[in-house]
Amino acid sequence: MSKKHTVLIIENNENDRRFFKDMLCPNYDVEEASSSDEAFSILNEKGEKISVILLDFTMDGIDGCEFLRVYMTRTESTMIPVIALDSSGSGKMEADAFRLGAYDFIKKPYDSEIILLRLENVLLKSQYASLREFKDFYEHDTLTGLYNQSKFNRETHKMLISNPDRKFTMVRFDINCFHLINAYFGTDRANNILLDIASELRRYITANFDTATYSRVGKDVFIYCIPTADKAEIEASIKNMNSFLKKENLMFKMYLCCGICIIDDNSMSVTEAYDKTIIAAKACKGSYTNYYEYYTKSMDDKAKEAQEIVDNMERAVTNGEFEVWYQPKYDIINNIPMGAEALVRWRHPKRGLIAPNKFIPVFESNGFITTLDRYVWEQTCKDLAFWMSKGCKFPVSINVSRVNLIQMPVIEVLNSLTEKYNIPHNMLNIEVTESVYTKDPQLLIDIVNNLKREGYLIFMDDFGSGYSSLSLLKDIDVNVLKIDMQFFKNGILDVRSKNILASIINMAKLLNMSVIAEGVETKTQVEFLKAWGCEYVQGYYFAKPMPKAEYEDYLKNNAAG
Ligand code: C2E
Ligand code: CA
Ligand code: CA
Repeated sequence: MSKKHTVLIIENNENDRRFFKDMLCPNYDVEEASSSDEAFSILNEKGEKISVILLDFTMDGIDGCEFLRVYMTRTESTMIPVIALDSSGSGKMEADAFRLGAYDFIKKPYDSEIILLRLENVLLKSQYASLREFKDFYEHDTLTGLYNQSKFNRETHKMLISNPDRKFTMVRFDINCFHLINAYFGTDRANNILLDIASELRRYITANFDTATYSRVGKDVFIYCIPTADKAEIEASIKNMNSFLKKENLMFKMYLCCGICIIDDNSMSVTEAYDKTIIAAKACKGSYTNYYEYYTKSMDDKAKEAQEIVDNMERAVTNGEFEVWYQPKYDIINNIPMGAEALVRWRHPKRGLIAPNKFIPVFESNGFITTLDRYVWEQTCKDLAFWMSKGCKFPVSINVSRVNLIQMPVIEVLNSLTEKYNIPHNMLNIEVTESVYTKDPQLLIDIVNNLKREGYLIFMDDFGSGYSSLSLLKDIDVNVLKIDMQFFKNGILDVRSKNILASIINMAKLLNMSVIAEGVETKTQVEFLKAWGCEYVQGYYFAKPMPKAEYEDYLKNNAAG
């Protein structure tokens, strides 16, 4: 048997109260209140149990009208329907009752049979209404009213299978740097922009396609699925949105980042298509020139590879699969070696030796770089301590990922390692890439200066590859500029590269810094650098990165081990 509904009767006239109670009792549970205070305390205590309220709207001494007004401001109120009773029988207040949100209005003379029927109706209708509200809530995005993702998935699936002869394309887009809009203009403005985007998306799609689905799936993430595989048509929809965004009058321009998946088989699951749009979107994230990409199989391979790297990284550390290799640095003025750079490699049990460019970026984005760098630094300190015990006087440089400069107490970690292995700070050199400096300049200036104060030598890695190099030198007093290898690519030196190199070397001298050039592969390059006063070189011309044992041989052969 189904559970009885509970009715709350709010009525100060005892006779009327008894009348309602007797009428309801066989079929309903009843709660009674003779004043609004009492009614509120019952609602507070047992509100969840109550299915409907019978309210005497014309209670003497208590204002039923006022009660309803106050009651309706409570959040749960729309869920419990109120039937207003007019015990005066005049019916004058009927409009007021409805205006305030009453579900029904019953006036004297009361007729039990009619009242019971109306009560049942109200219960049915209100349950239906809350179900609808519930459904609505679970199917739509509360801000824009567009489909939410699960509704989008269901509708898109239906659309795909009921149109087997048509081709469809799914597009996912978000806005580069949307968090800045939140930060600069506040949530309200940001929400308004999202609302504008939603209505433009709706307008464009309904104006251009006879069937389509669209949705907001996350903060600034929208997706849509349109019945075309024609690139011109697809790109027109993206361009429309991009130029729409440009019209928003903000201090800075907003850019879209779109991933596109042409659905070649309508039985493809909607989530699979969506995942492909995410993979495609990643290919243009952060780019200002290229704001859309089509999904291709090779992107998938890349994503899978990245996933595989993530799946295996913990095991790799435990199994000691990461190896530290060393690439000698050479003093071209005195023609002697002068140390090395520690470079990590991954000896994967199945895939063989993996170069750091494959996994470092993945680790930088998932935070694992902290574990890896610590591991490499410790390995390096251990090796260095061993070589020093054999009389080696060459320093070794380690790379500090930009992520770690911010995430990790670099100075404490390095101090404790050098203490543990008894390594003088000037034997450990620290390479930091210049791109680091651009994000939070002051923090990094402080860290670099503190490292210097601790006696470590700082190398500015990849100098000349970024765009802020010169202004950085104003703020950060590094010991050595490490000229990026792009200048030496293909083994030749063109006139422009030569001029830039000569200027960098001259400038470094004026600023009292040493210069090392990396990626140097030919004799001509070495001679040019020497002629302009560059002291050090690291590159295949002298030696490639090599495993520890080989580097030890190298040291011996060069009378330094
Ligand atoms: P990087 O710090 O600029 O390291 C120099 C890279 O240039 C090395 O690549 C090295 O093998 C390569 N190289 C050296 N001489 C030549 C040359 O004459 N010609 C050419 N074509 N290349 C040369 P590798 O070892 O693949 O490292 C790539 C990057 O990975 C490094 O660039 C560095 O940014 C990062 N990396 C390597 N090991 C670590 C590490 O332990 N921690 C962190 N955070 N990053 C690392
Ligand atoms: Ca380096
Ligand atoms: Ca470099």
